[in-house]
Amino acid sequence: MYKKVILFIFILPVILCFVSKENGYEKQRKDMVEHQIKARGVKDERVIGAMLKVPRHHFVPLDQRKNAYSDSPLPIGEGQTISQPYIVALMTELLKLKSSDKVLEVGTGSGYQAAILAEIVDEVYTIEIIPTLAKRADSTLKTLGYENIKVKSGDGYLGWEEYTPFDAIIITCAPPYIPKPLIDQLKQGGKIVVPLGEEWKAQILTLIEKVKGGLKITPIEYVRFVPMKGKIEEEK
Ligand code: SAH
Repeated sequence: MYKKVILFIFILPVILCFVSKENGYEKQRKDMVEHQIKARGVKDERVIGAMLKVPRHHFVPLDQRKNAYSDSPLPIGEGQTISQPYIVALMTELLKLKSSDKVLEVGTGSGYQAAILAEIVDEVYTIEIIPTLAKRADSTLKTLGYENIKVKSGDGYLGWEEYTPFDAIIITCAPPYIPKPLIDQLKQGGKIVVPLGEEWKAQILTLIEKVKGGLKITPIEYVRFVPMKGKIEEEK
């Protein structure tokens, strides 16, 4: 009994510290949603709910946790970045997702965007070309309990044939054009959101809808993403 009391006295401050830190992050998430996301016009309640819920600080390196909810992209290692919160929310909103949708993401990075999607839809498939990032994102997502996300290490150019067709595709690295396999793997009526453009040049966040007889293309706004690597570079 005496030993148990001593142990409790030592563990209690650790628990209290953890709880107060998590409360601090929750407050930062609320501020992020108010000032960065709602203030810029994102309205979809499910997107807002997901942005309020997903603990973004778990998706950034430890030395970046203090900046996790700031209004900017952040480095995640391997020369890659986690996107700015507003851009994650905007891209997700543009897809107008239904809970029964099956979504493919190209460019897993930290896994944050995949987690936001997984709060809204039943199935998320995400592909990352850098194996260490794919492994880390998979482990973060498993630790947080996401069972509806499958992570694959590989070139997203080719899509993910096994789970085709997709209701929506989100590309979070910038290709100069949409790889054909991704168009083929999209359902009729489905949507792709993608930052289109050459490396170091202006990229335009673009919404593409697969409509009868072709593609409907809507430019949204200028953005800056890391370039798509792999097979697409060979085609230049
Ligand atoms: N969605 C991510 C951020 C993406 S950063 C997040 O929420 O954190 C863009 C990512 O795309 C990088 O990790 C980069 O390695 C990856 N990438 C680049 N080319 C790719 C390709 N051809 N296939 C899959 N991933 C690719």
